[in-house]
Amino acid sequence: MSKVLIIGAGGVGRVVVYKCAQHPEVFSEILVASRTKSKCDVIVNDVKRDTGHQNITTAGVDAEDVPALVALIRSFQPKLVIHVALPYQDLTIMEACLQTGVNYLDTANYEPKDEAKFEYSWQWALQDRFKQAGLTAILGCGFDPGVTGVFTAYAAKHYFDEMHYLDIIDANAGSHGKAFATNFNPEINIREVTQKGRYWENGQWIYTEPHEIWKDINYPDVGPKRSYVIYHEELESLVKNYPTLKRARFWMTFGDEYLTHLRVIQNIGMAGIEPVKYKGIDVIPLEFLKAVLPDPGDLGENYTGQTSIGCRIRGIKDGQPRNYYIWNNCQHQDAYKETGTQGVSYTTGVPAMLGAKMFLEGHWGGAGVFNVEEFNPDPFLAELGKVGLPWHEEHNGDLEFEY
Ligand code: NDP
Repeated sequence: MSKVLIIGAGGVGRVVVYKCAQHPEVFSEILVASRTKSKCDVIVNDVKRDTGHQNITTAGVDAEDVPALVALIRSFQPKLVIHVALPYQDLTIMEACLQTGVNYLDTANYEPKDEAKFEYSWQWALQDRFKQAGLTAILGCGFDPGVTGVFTAYAAKHYFDEMHYLDIIDANAGSHGKAFATNFNPEINIREVTQKGRYWENGQWIYTEPHEIWKDINYPDVGPKRSYVIYHEELESLVKNYPTLKRARFWMTFGDEYLTHLRVIQNIGMAGIEPVKYKGIDVIPLEFLKAVLPDPGDLGENYTGQTSIGCRIRGIKDGQPRNYYIWNNCQHQDAYKETGTQGVSYTTGVPAMLGAKMFLEGHWGGAGVFNVEEFNPDPFLAELGKVGLPWHEEHNGDLEFEY
């Protein structure tokens, strides 16, 4: 029985509130806070109606304002803060947790607003402070990062003496019927996919032009989909925690239409993060673009198809080469029926709830700042299917590992 504070009321926040409310024996009291309180109220009304959990309240808070966060946390006294607002707020929320003696969990690493650069360094730098305070910070507990780290930890624990090659493959074989929309926060998404590609090979990062490396990868129940090597944040912690990896890459599918729109957006300057003066006011093009694009949280109703995300790993066990593939497929319509939002928000929100449950039940914990692969993957994977994301595995299968 614990109190949790959930910060953020977007698509992911909606799923986290639903999933926590489905487990009242763990999440007995929930406060949902975000910049716009009315968005929290809409979610909480739906969740109360659909789950029957009545002990949920809402608040408005600017998560970049540490004193305001501290006051909110002190008044509610949660055991854990689940941060599903934006990566820009990671450090202020962690600071507020340190000042109030509360544990922390997020789904995306810190990113400064004025620089499209995301890495764990800022959050890892808080290691000593979390240790000294005897508090736990769980970083990157969505799907990717999140489940992909747990999948990798599970493979390392059970099936390999040494992992050599890791390919995280992420397909969204869904269709939302819009000419262009992003599946999660457009600002964060566009910053992520327009940056240079990067992967790990033989002890160093190899940089590529955006979308330079691609391949048609065959996804289970989906078929071949064009997939591009992009940099994704879990690579940073995974190559640190599994130093036997000779190569680690992240592949994501993009349709031609999506990439064409993205190119146009970039070419006309709408992906810019520097302010421009418009009628005497500073406007950041990418922030303005977010305001006119479809809200990812609203895509669910007409979204068909599914996501397929997993890890393909090669290495050795008992001196023999072996390969292993572990993945989840998630139907957008199933996610929508249960939570009123689409599969990408669902695959992020379910693991965030489950990581919180792991912590509150004592399966995961310890003093310090942790990436999810540092915890025991077994109790998490024992429940992941039951809470909505069934997973599958294939041993020494005939997979496309030679790309
Ligand atoms: P949305 O943009 O839909 O929602 C973000 C929410 O954060 C909104 O409610 C917004 O409020 C709120 N917010 C923004 N700024 C502040 C602030 N200063 N103070 C308080 N609240 C604020 O994003 P998503 O739900 O799509 O994504 C949420 C998080 O999940 C992001 O960090 C994203 O990177 C991460 N993510 C992780 C994935 C993974 O697999 N690990 C995959 C997908 C997403 P308002 O509405 O008022 O602007």
